[in-house]
Amino acid sequence: MKLSWRVLLLWTLPALIIGFFLWQGTFNTANAFGNNTASTRMTYGRFLAYLDAHRVQSVDLYEGGRTAIVQATDPQLSDRSQLLRVDLPLQAPELIARLRNEGIPFASHPIQNNGAIWGLLGNLIFPILLIGSLFFLFRRSNNMPGGPGQAMNFGKSRARFQMEAKTGIMFDDVAGVDEAKEELQEVVTFLKQPERFTAVGAKIPKGVLLVGPPGTGKTLLAKAIAGEAGVPFFSISGSEFVEMFVGVGASRVRDLFKKAKENAPCLIFIDEIDAVGRQRGAGIGGGNDEREQTLNQLLTEMDGFEGNTGIIIIAATNRPDVLDSALLRPGRFDRQAIVDAPDIKGRLKILEVHARNKKIDPAVSLETIARRTPGFSGADLANLLNEAAILTARRRKELVTMLEINDAVDRVIAGMEGTPLVDSKSKRLIAYHEIGHAIVGTLVKEHDPVQKVTLIPRGQAQGLTWFTPNEEQGLTTRSQLMARIAGAMGGRAAEEEVFGHAEVTTGAGGDLQQVTGMARQMVTRFGMSDLGPLSLEDQSGEVFLGSNLMTRSEYSEEIATKIDQQVRAIAEQGHEMARNIIRQHRMVIDRLVDLLIEKETIDGEEFRQIVAEYAEIPEKEQFVPQL
Ligand code: ADP
Ligand code: MG
Ligand code: ZN
Repeated sequence: MKLSWRVLLLWTLPALIIGFFLWQGTFNTANAFGNNTASTRMTYGRFLAYLDAHRVQSVDLYEGGRTAIVQATDPQLSDRSQLLRVDLPLQAPELIARLRNEGIPFASHPIQNNGAIWGLLGNLIFPILLIGSLFFLFRRSNNMPGGPGQAMNFGKSRARFQMEAKTGIMFDDVAGVDEAKEELQEVVTFLKQPERFTAVGAKIPKGVLLVGPPGTGKTLLAKAIAGEAGVPFFSISGSEFVEMFVGVGASRVRDLFKKAKENAPCLIFIDEIDAVGRQRGAGIGGGNDEREQTLNQLLTEMDGFEGNTGIIIIAATNRPDVLDSALLRPGRFDRQAIVDAPDIKGRLKILEVHARNKKIDPAVSLETIARRTPGFSGADLANLLNEAAILTARRRKELVTMLEINDAVDRVIAGMEGTPLVDSKSKRLIAYHEIGHAIVGTLVKEHDPVQKVTLIPRGQAQGLTWFTPNEEQGLTTRSQLMARIAGAMGGRAAEEEVFGHAEVTTGAGGDLQQVTGMARQMVTRFGMSDLGPLSLEDQSGEVFLGSNLMTRSEYSEEIATKIDQQVRAIAEQGHEMARNIIRQHRMVIDRLVDLLIEKETIDGEEFRQIVAEYAEIPEKEQFVPQL
């Protein structure tokens, strides 16, 4: 790390200063009493008694006669001489006369203004420390890349943007987002051959907004555009604009655009633009001055250059709904491209891209992986193959096989694998719990089919039942939701049925949470309860703290009570469904539990074969997308 020595200095300097003063301090006090720091104190009365007994050998007076260090012999210490400190009363002039009379050597030492100096230094320590630290802080930030080391120069030339002369990324490296790619193909032409457009009097658009969830390849796409066009790539994250000091963000925007103009044609990429581009004046307390200034500066800069100067700005966000409408006006980010989570075909293509540079066993079917990973983003898939490669290396294999990939999928979805439990009562209970999920999932027609059941702990879970999700289903029916609720209740229902009410465990906590969430949504969002087709809650999480404070509760207390009743009714219904199934299939459940404890994992096919010996398994409609 390049900065580490500065950080070190930042901390050692104050420490050194403190150390210095502490050392000075002890030095001074030591001096004040002529290095005879007498730690033992003695009362004035005792001192007089010592004088009477002729045991005082010498007296040194300090602080204008207020303190004395007395050398005296001590009978308790076999008359060894000893230094004692005495606080003298102010009115004791007769003491000097008496010392003189008795011929005791005494000396008076001048008032050293040590106390005052010490106090002054004490007062100075803090400001000195503060100034010192600030100084180093500024030094440090001024030495950030792109900045000359002028001290105290807030915000200037400290733009935190990165510049890549060549990104080296091409459209081929981005897969599964064909629509966005098509949309952006044109941007490449804007950058490469602007004449084609200007010749016919067309104004080249300035900004494109990429909208999509995290990890779907927005940054990658922006880099690919720069790569295809062969222009430099400037990038900054919206959150880096906004700092503690007002005005820093605005000056960073200015710097960024200045540098970009010098390097035109080029591409500016602003990641997380929602960090600066939120609606102005939203939320509690009005707005954020710094952010607004930054946003204003950004708008000004975008208006300031003509579309034909060869700069294209690409911004990315996953919250287009919170953006200030001024950003979306024509002449700014007037084009939008949606970069969505990939579908199964997209996933397959992304897997192909990332499999290119890995040694993968030819027997591996990327198609199967694509099927197993609905909901995975491009970044998840890249990570998945990487995890698989790491596993392969750890197992000292030459090629990545399906085994490693499946392990990696499990790991990405459910966390690290733990060590299996030893056979015990709680292992049996977990086995019943999981088989409960699996049997309900198998026997309820609308439920997704079981993929496997396992007792190998993973992440938080002691055991897991995996279902093969129905690929890309657009809409979910009420009976599908009920089936999921019953399936989630299967675990707890089996515990109750087999071990009794008193023995149920905390293992069902997650299941119940899921059930409650689904049931609540059925009631409040989808109109699937006796309350009727009402939408009682909007789905968006809050965007600004307090922006919807005023319109918070859309329903009365009375409705709230009814919602709770309905949620309960739905959960109860699912519970009943599950318990009935468990009760009616105890035989096969017991057999499956024994098998699971023996084998730790049962896969879906085998599971269904065994169940089929005892019951009829309803035909499931699995949508199998064509590839
Ligand atoms: P975002 O900016 O949308 O959050 P990134 O572009 O940073 O996502 O993606 C992170 C990584 O995930 C990329 O570097 C790439 O390895 C992988 N990735 C994401 N989407 C794709 C995709 N569509 N095609 C290929 N790789 C992808
Ligand atoms: Mg990104
Ligand atoms: Zn469970």
